[in-house]
Amino acid sequence: MSDIIQLLPDHVANQIAAGEVVQRPASVVKELLENSIDAGATSITLLLKDAGKTLIQVIDNGKGMSVTDARLCFERHATSKIKDAKDLFNLNTKGFRGEALASIAAIAHVELKTKQENEELGTCIKIEGSTITDQDVISTAKGTSIAVKNLFYNIPARRNFLKSDTVETRHIIDEFQRVALAHPEISFLLHHNGNEIYHLKESNFRKRIVGIFGAKMNEKLVPVEEQTDIMVIKGFVAKPSYAKKKRGEQFFFVNDRFIKSSYLNHAVNNAFDGLLESGSHPSYFIYFEVPPNTIDINIHPTKTEVKFDNEKALYAILRATVKHSLGQYSVAPVLDFNRDATLDTPYDFKDKPAVSTPKIIVDPTFNPFKNETTQVSTPKTSSPTPKTSFKSDYKDYKKDAGSWESLYVNTHQEVQQEQLFESKQETETGKTFQIQKKYLLSTIKSGVVLIHQSLAHQRILYEEFLTNITVKDANSQQLLFPINISFPSSDIEMIQGIKSDLESAGFVFNEFTNESVVIGGIPTSISESQISLILEQLLDDLKLEVPETSFSHYDVMAKSFAKSLAIKTGTVLSIKEQETLVNNLFSCKEPNVSPIGKPTFKTLTLQEIDTIFSK
Ligand code: ADP
Ligand code: MG
Repeated sequence: MSDIIQLLPDHVANQIAAGEVVQRPASVVKELLENSIDAGATSITLLLKDAGKTLIQVIDNGKGMSVTDARLCFERHATSKIKDAKDLFNLNTKGFRGEALASIAAIAHVELKTKQENEELGTCIKIEGSTITDQDVISTAKGTSIAVKNLFYNIPARRNFLKSDTVETRHIIDEFQRVALAHPEISFLLHHNGNEIYHLKESNFRKRIVGIFGAKMNEKLVPVEEQTDIMVIKGFVAKPSYAKKKRGEQFFFVNDRFIKSSYLNHAVNNAFDGLLESGSHPSYFIYFEVPPNTIDINIHPTKTEVKFDNEKALYAILRATVKHSLGQYSVAPVLDFNRDATLDTPYDFKDKPAVSTPKIIVDPTFNPFKNETTQVSTPKTSSPTPKTSFKSDYKDYKKDAGSWESLYVNTHQEVQQEQLFESKQETETGKTFQIQKKYLLSTIKSGVVLIHQSLAHQRILYEEFLTNITVKDANSQQLLFPINISFPSSDIEMIQGIKSDLESAGFVFNEFTNESVVIGGIPTSISESQISLILEQLLDDLKLEVPETSFSHYDVMAKSFAKSLAIKTGTVLSIKEQETLVNNLFSCKEPNVSPIGKPTFKTLTLQEIDTIFSK
C-alpha cells in the first residue's frame, strides 16, 4: 500500500487555524489592538467600515517592525513574545501564540505598513490568502498600520454566517471597550463608516470608564481598593441603586487583560447580598494585579478565561473588599428595606393608559351596610359543564359580559371599561381579587383563573407595541420641548442602527450628536419621564439578544418596552384595574404566555377544585 499521509500546505493549515482564532470581525479587532499594545503604542486608532466586514484598520505609534519581521510576522508560530516554554509561565504580553496575523492573512486582504523609530523608511506588505502579493519600501510614520479588508472573502460560508452590521458592530465595540478599559494610559480613537464613535484621551481608570459609558457613570462609581501579598485589587463598583437588570457592565481585568469569571462574579454578587432587588446585577470594573506566574491564561483559545493559583483566597479578598467599599461609602445604610415596593417602580404607574386609575367619586348616599349584602353574596355556582380549553370557556365569559366583544375591535380601553363594568355587575363570573400584590384571581364560569399580574401586563403591552411598530403608523406624540438624552457614544451608534425601527414605534429623532440624542416625539403609550429608562433597557436588551432579522428587532423592542412598562409585582391594583387587566389579557392574540414564554395564567376548573376536596 502506498503512503497516504501528507503535510497540509501552509495556506490550508493557516485557514484551518483561522477558524479558531477569527470567528468574526471583532476577533480581528481584538488581536490587532492587543498587538499594538504589546508594541508599546501610546495612541491607537481603529477604523471600521461596514461593521468590519469591509475594513478593519488599526494604526499605532508602537515600535514598528524591521523589513524581515514585517514578512515573518505573517508566518504561523512567528512571535517575538516568547522564546521557549518556560516563558509561558511569566507572560507580560497579550499575545504569545504567533498565530493571529498568519490566520488573518489567510482569510482576508491585508496591507501592513510599518516603520521603526530609528529608520528612515518603512515597509509595506500586501498579502492575500497567505500569499504575499506586494512588498515596497515606503515613507510612513513610526509605528504600524494593519488594514484587514474583505474578511472571509475566500470562505463564503463564514462570510454568510456573519450577523447584521448592528450585531457585528456591537461585538467589536465590546472588544474595543475591554481593551480601552484595561489601558487608560493609551489614547484610543474609533471611527465607524467615517463617524467618530470614541475619542478617548490618555487618562485614569475612572475617567476612562466615564469616557466610555458616559458622564452619568461618574456619580455611580464607588472605588474598590485592596493590597495584599498575593494581589492588588483596584477599580470600582456601581452603587446598588444603579444595578442593571441585565449583566451588561461587568468587567474583570487581570494584569490588564479582560477576563470572564463566574467564580469571581459570584464573589461580587455575594458582597452585594441584600442590597439588590432580585433579578438585578451589579455593575463593576475590577482590576487585579497578580504575579504572572500565579495565573495560567493558556487554557482558552480566545484567552478570556484564566486559571488562578489562589482562587479561593482571591474570592474571599474580593468579596471582603467590595463589601468594605459599599459600607465605607455608606451605600449600604441608606437603603431602607421596609419601604413600599411600589416606590421602586421607576415610573409612574398612573401614566399608563392601559390600566388607568379610576376617578374617585364620592357618593353622599352611600350606606355601607346596605351595600355589604350585595358584595359578600355567595356566588351562585354555574352549571359545571366541562370545558376543554380556557379559550372556549372564555367565549362564554365574553357573552356574559355583554359588550365584551367590542373590546376586541377598539384599543381605546378607557371608554370600553365603563360599559364593561355596568354589564358585569349583573354576572356572577368575572369577579377579581388581588393576591399578595402579585396575582389576580378571577372567577369564570367553569372555575377560577389565576393570573400573574406583571407577566400578563407584559403580554398586553407587548402585543400593543408589536402592532404599533409593525403596522407602521404608530401614534406619536410631539413633545413641546424636545428632550436631550445623553448616552455613551457606542449606544448612540446602536440607536442610530435601529433608528427606523424606533421611528416606526413612534419615536421622532430631531438630532444625533456624539453623546446625545434629541427626541422630538415619542409613542403615545409612553410618558416623557420614562423615555430614558426605556431606551436604556432597550439597549441592554439588544446587546444581549443579538437579533438577526429586522423582525426580531421589532420583537426585541416590543419585549423590552413591555418589560419596562409593565406593572410590577408589589403594585396594588384597584378592582377596576384588575378587571381591565383581565379583560385586556384575554383580548390578546396569545394570552397564555408572556413575551418571554412564561405562563401568564392558569385555570382551575370546578372539577379540579372538586377533586381536591373529594380525597
Ligand atoms: P503574537 O502576538 O502572538 O506574537 P501575532 O501573529 O499577533 O502573534 O503577531 C506576530 C508578531 O508580529 C508579534 O510577535 C510581533 O512581533 C509582530 N507584530 C504584530 N503586530 C505588531 C504591531 N502592531 N507592532 C509591532 N509588531 C507587531
Ligand atoms: Mg498577537
